[in-house]
Amino acid sequence: MKESTRIMMKKHGWRFDRFIHNYIYFKYYYPYVESVFYLFKYMSKLLFWFKPLNVVLSMAFSRYHSKILSLGDTRKIFTLNENIAAMSPENKKIVPFKYAYKIIFQEPENIAVMDCPCKMTLGDKDENINSCLAVGKGLSSFWLEHGGKKYHARKISQKEALDMINRFRKMGYLTQAFFKVATGGSTGVICNCHPDTCVSLQATKFAKKFNSKLTMNAPSGYSIEFNEKRCAWHATCAEVCPVEAIKVDKTNKKWIYDKDACLGCELCVEHCPEKALSIFRDSGKSVPLDVDIVKKEFVQPN
Ligand code: SF4
Ligand code: SF4
Repeated sequence: MKESTRIMMKKHGWRFDRFIHNYIYFKYYYPYVESVFYLFKYMSKLLFWFKPLNVVLSMAFSRYHSKILSLGDTRKIFTLNENIAAMSPENKKIVPFKYAYKIIFQEPENIAVMDCPCKMTLGDKDENINSCLAVGKGLSSFWLEHGGKKYHARKISQKEALDMINRFRKMGYLTQAFFKVATGGSTGVICNCHPDTCVSLQATKFAKKFNSKLTMNAPSGYSIEFNEKRCAWHATCAEVCPVEAIKVDKTNKKWIYDKDACLGCELCVEHCPEKALSIFRDSGKSVPLDVDIVKKEFVQPN
């Protein structure tokens, strides 16, 4: 048995079922994610009239979901050089889902990149496929030992990971940290996601047909402030926004912002050439996955 398989088995303890699920998930990453996508797609197409299905979707999302990361919080994760383990249900203030909310970074300098099953399923460009990141010793070593040939898994440095994230953000891809009960309910996978080629963002879109409040993607915890004096009204911010939370009325010079729809991904801020937008922590939203906040307020004393 490979060393990383042994580590995974140990992580799940007596829950052998979860170990099997976890093993199959990453070993057959692409067909697994592809099947889930088509299940969602046909369910929303054929069963959109069957409203009770929103209960099933809600159960599924409570077990597998993401937290949107701002650029600043992403940078902190990819420059982290110490272990963090915040395991308590208090973390639901950051990851507001019933299950899967542990924030664990163990030996976070160990990073692997592998082909992204969402981008393979939804047909992103070839040069964008190798973009799914595993942070931490346990997960990255599993990807390297099991996904090498099939999914082009390779070890990269923190700097290379950040360069990759910056490249994707320039193209309008947001950054998400994923949590899944079957993978231990904790952080580990961080990916560069576009609304057209990310299965989780598409799943949220499908789910909204059943219940407008259902989401698989927890907002970052930040909102956006607009400085009208700086605005040049060219609408780049609206074009890059993955959820159409910004509308720009060029004729009447109006900037319209839907704070509730905003994911706090920070893409509009980075893409505004006039620096008319800024990000701020919004106390009306969930707590950001900012490792400094996690260390200060969520890691339990020994
Ligand atoms: S990108 Fe910046 S300058 Fe352009 S419309 Fe948006 S806020 Fe205004
Ligand atoms: S408004 Fe800005 S921060 Fe909010 S979702 Fe759109 S691009 Fe992201």
